[in-house]
This record gives sequence, C-alpha cells and structure tokens, in this order.
Amino acid sequence: MRLLSPLFCSFAALLAIIPAASAAECGPQALGVSRIVQIDGGERLALGLQTYPRTLALADRELVLTFDDGPAHGATERVLEALKAECARATFFLVGSHAAEAPALVRRIVAEGHNAGHHSYSHPARTLRLMSESAARADIEKGFAAVDSAAGLEGRHPHFPFFRFPGFADTPELVRWLEDKGVTVFGADLWASDWQEMTPRAELDLVLSRLEAAGKGIVLFHDPRPSTAAMMPEFLRELKTRGFRLVHLVPGAGPTPIVHAKPGWTSATEAIIAKTLGPKGLRSEPQEEGRGVKSQ
Ligand SMILES: [Zn+2]
Repeated sequence: MRLLSPLFCSFAALLAIIPAASAAECGPQALGVSRIVQIDGGERLALGLQTYPRTLALADRELVLTFDDGPAHGATERVLEALKAECARATFFLVGSHAAEAPALVRRIVAEGHNAGHHSYSHPARTLRLMSESAARADIEKGFAAVDSAAGLEGRHPHFPFFRFPGFADTPELVRWLEDKGVTVFGADLWASDWQEMTPRAELDLVLSRLEAAGKGIVLFHDPRPSTAAMMPEFLRELKTRGFRLVHLVPGAGPTPIVHAKPGWTSATEAIIAKTLGPKGLRSEPQEEGRGVKSQ
C-alpha cells in the first residue's frame, strides 16, 4: 500500500479534485471516503477477481462502490441522493446511449464527485465478444464520446479511463486495445445479483452477507434497478455501522496497488458467460494464471 501515506499527506489536495459535498456537510456519523487510490491506466491492468486473476489491493473491510448500466431517471437520482447523504463516492460505468438520453444526470454524477466510467454505447445483448472486432471497438468509442459529451468533459478522452465490459464478456484483443489507450478494465470482486428480481431487504441481506464473507472488494451494483436504489441508504448506513470503509478511485500515477489471485484461481464470469452464450461465447485464449478454485 505504497500510496497510503503520501495520499494522506496530500489528502486535502486530492479531495480538492473531488467536487461537490464538502466534508463539512457530513459529520463523523457519515460513511464518507476513507482513502483515495490512483489507478494508472498505463500499467495495463484488468482488475476484479470474478473475471481477472488480480484485483485492487484493499485492506480488510475496505470496499469500492461501482454501478453499471445507468444513468436512468428515477433510480439513479435515488442512488445519488443516498451517496450524497453519506459523502460517499462511487464509479458509475455508464451506457453511452443512456448517457445521451440523460445528459443532466451524467453532469450530476461528475459534479457530485463520482467517476463517469464506461460500459459501451449500446450494451449489446449478445455482448461485445460476439461482435466483430471493428464493430465492438466502434461501439466502445461511441460510448466514450457519448458519456464525455453528456458530461461536458473536454480534453483527455475518455475523461475517466475506466471501462467494464457488458456481461464481463471481454476478448483478449479488446482488452489489449483498451490497455493501449490507457484505459483500465474493471471486473468486480463481488456483486449484489441485483439483475435478479428481489426485494430491497433481500438484496441488502445478500450483499452484506457476501461482503462479510469476502471482507473487502470491488462491489458491483446496477443503479437503474429499483431494489438497489431503495436499499442504498440503509446499505451505506450499515457499512458505517459494521466498520467498512470506502475507497474511491481516481485516474492517476502508479504504481496501482494490486494483489494477484492465489494459485488455482478461476474466472467465475466465464462459467456464467458459457451458460448464457454457449460454446461460441467462450474466450478464445486461456487466462495467464491458471485455473482451478477461486481462492480470494
Ligand atoms: Zn451492464
């Protein structure tokens, strides 16, 4: 955790790059952000143990909040209100076509200190993996442009160089192409399974039990899901009560603190993709660090 002490030394300076709710608006009872970690897109990292054999090095009871598939009027506002009430920060992996339809929401996400990451333009049902390489690249590029344009962000493109593949269905070629562009690819360490219908209470209990079991990690939600929007205020309060601490990611200089999967790691998402897409959906290259039982 090389970054920890230098970051605390310049914590005020780093907070200055995060706009919106000032610390003064949140008292000690709020969850807040305990630590900021810089992600160096030049390091060619794909992170998140459900898909990749490495993840962010987090201390016990540290987590990173991520939300996919937004923005969506109604639910996303509720998630943003919940985050604001706790001075919490998250990374939103936005669908470009949704961003184009709700630009004010994208601007709000950025204005309130969150990352407007990327999740393709069209979120193709058959996944980017089953598209031609050129069509997939075009969809991703269109998504970058749609989100940055909706947010009114100029300069570096994409402004937030964070990407998550829809359905985690990457290809080695697309991952390499993104890495060449300095874009970090994110999987997840655990999720709320909020793509399934469930009550907010059931979702809250499920994700908390998974978080207690894992102890830490990059957590995936879907902000358009009503159950997620409904449970988010209580989830954030419960994190504080249980002693979890929030880590916020920002693009920056390396080295990015990572930890490698233990021997015997295997991708959980590949098994899911194989079920969903059949043999055509299988990745064309093996992962570099072996297969077996996921150990972290
Ligand atoms: Zn998605």
